[in-house]
Amino acid sequence: MCRAGSQGGKFAVAVKEEMTDEERLDFAKGLSLKLMWKIRIRGEKLFLSANYQTAVYPKDGNSAEDLLNKLITDHYMRLYVESPAEDLTEKCRLLAAGRTDVEFSEYADYQLTELSKALNQYRKSVEQIAYFDPVYHIGNRMKYLKDVDMLISYDAKRYFRVYSMDIRSFSKYNELFSVSTGDALLMEITRRLEHIFGNNLYRINGDVFIGISFEADKDKDHKVGRIRNAFQSPIVVEDSTFTLDVLIGICDYPLHAKTSEKLLESVQMAVNYAKTSGAGMANNVILYDDKLLEVRREEARIVRLLETSLKEKTLEVWYQPLYHLKRERFTGTEALVRLPHGNGGYVPAGQVIEIAEKNGLVGQVGEYVIHRACTFMMEKGKKLGIESMGINLSVQQLLVENSVPSIIGHIKKTGLDPKCITFEITETVLIQSIELAKGILDELSSYGVRIALDDFGIGYSSLNYLLNLPVNVLKFDRSMTKKSVDSEKQYALLKAMIQMADISQMDVVAEGVETKEEWKMLTSTSASYIQGFYYSKPLPEEKLMQFLRDNNHIENVKQ
Ligand code: C2E
Ligand code: MG
Ligand code: MG
Repeated sequence: MCRAGSQGGKFAVAVKEEMTDEERLDFAKGLSLKLMWKIRIRGEKLFLSANYQTAVYPKDGNSAEDLLNKLITDHYMRLYVESPAEDLTEKCRLLAAGRTDVEFSEYADYQLTELSKALNQYRKSVEQIAYFDPVYHIGNRMKYLKDVDMLISYDAKRYFRVYSMDIRSFSKYNELFSVSTGDALLMEITRRLEHIFGNNLYRINGDVFIGISFEADKDKDHKVGRIRNAFQSPIVVEDSTFTLDVLIGICDYPLHAKTSEKLLESVQMAVNYAKTSGAGMANNVILYDDKLLEVRREEARIVRLLETSLKEKTLEVWYQPLYHLKRERFTGTEALVRLPHGNGGYVPAGQVIEIAEKNGLVGQVGEYVIHRACTFMMEKGKKLGIESMGINLSVQQLLVENSVPSIIGHIKKTGLDPKCITFEITETVLIQSIELAKGILDELSSYGVRIALDDFGIGYSSLNYLLNLPVNVLKFDRSMTKKSVDSEKQYALLKAMIQMADISQMDVVAEGVETKEEWKMLTSTSASYIQGFYYSKPLPEEKLMQFLRDNNHIENVKQ
């Protein structure tokens, strides 16, 4: 390769031997892609615009000079032959129609070339606004789509790998610290990821980054290790040190998807799978494959099952009794949804709720459970000594407009006093929208219903923030009990936390108590209630009634 011509290296010439016509065509495609590539000059990103000509020896000339002359003459001929005004007008039209690959070129006329340069500058400044994140200075979703479309159109055979990186529970950093802390964390992550992906890094929304890599398969673990490091190496913001947990989805072009949109959809599907499958730190990387499609199909089946069971009222509600330690009897129950699977079994409740949330059905499910549980309480529960019915509320159900009057309306329709209801809200989910949730919980409790914080201990587990919320009951997650049986330290911690809840006038329920040993340990704390398989699994209505008749020593209640 050498530089040629009189205009200070404006032309570069390269020689390649023994190429067929087809190879030349492929090569030309790759070449024009390379020429349009962004480059960095003194820290600034620039796009090069360049034309290329080819000459073939001996057809186009017998000496190096002849061949060079042919290339340069062809270049200027092209400039003369193309009608500049028509070309400019057509390009402006394409630009106005939203085309993103328009490049204004040089013309023989000096003034038109100047105009062309000015239009290029204008196009770039508009692109900057449309395609770049103004805060983090990396490409956005539109830029990702544009770049990947271009990659594919230039060389449909070229392999590349798309990584989606999502920070686990990122919103809690904004909620618990400040938005500027969240921004500072994202800024540092962006900087670190740029070291890995260079210009092929995009921020798709919020805390979701996309990176593209052209390296081959075998490099996967190395790359993943570097990504993990970028998130997990400590980040210091003001006085606090953070280490973030990342979920990574991976998808290959052209194996898993063949368009920019489909690649994004598939890689997001992989990340969402990592999120919802409860993958721990060790298993937070999901490579897209057909199994994910299978998961999707099963999900669609469950949605249909749920819709039918709501319509035909075959969705079941089971109840698990809560034992009051001081009063030595069962005074509460928790309502738990049960969706028949069609093969004699049931779809796990957690999965039903998650799918209902994703598919806009959680409001209907919630309404159904409230209606069933309150009716049961009115007609049978109270007579069996049950004073409080626990009903789980999905935060999604809570955060919709006018949720409180509608929820209370459904209770009142059954004739039940709202005081008999304890709504259970999961701690980890609540904390992600704590400001909004606080107002709604205040409104709910103004009607006399009680509020329980469910699964306490697996999330943030601070009693501090709870003091501002109208929480009456803390339900300690099973994992807390399990840990405390084996460790003196954990036991002391659990005991102290229960004591603090007691001082703050919150009732404590120990959930998921299975063994005599766990039960014994808990009776030496100030927990008020015990719920778990130790006493009973969740039971259908009739079986629960029998259980309560046998254990609360109440007779004469008809089935
Ligand atoms: P949760 O509210 O924490 O309910 C307690 C879960 O622990 C129930 O699982 C129950 O069967 C299980 N459990 C009870 N005792 C034991 C025990 O001793 N050992 C073990 N290993 N597990 C025990 P289930 O019914 O599968 O429900 C799972 C979650 O699904 C619930 O957790 C709740 O968050 C959600 N859910 C269930 N029904 C509803 C509903 O109607 N609405 C909403 N929004 N969520 C619901
Ligand atoms: Mg619950
Ligand atoms: Mg729970």
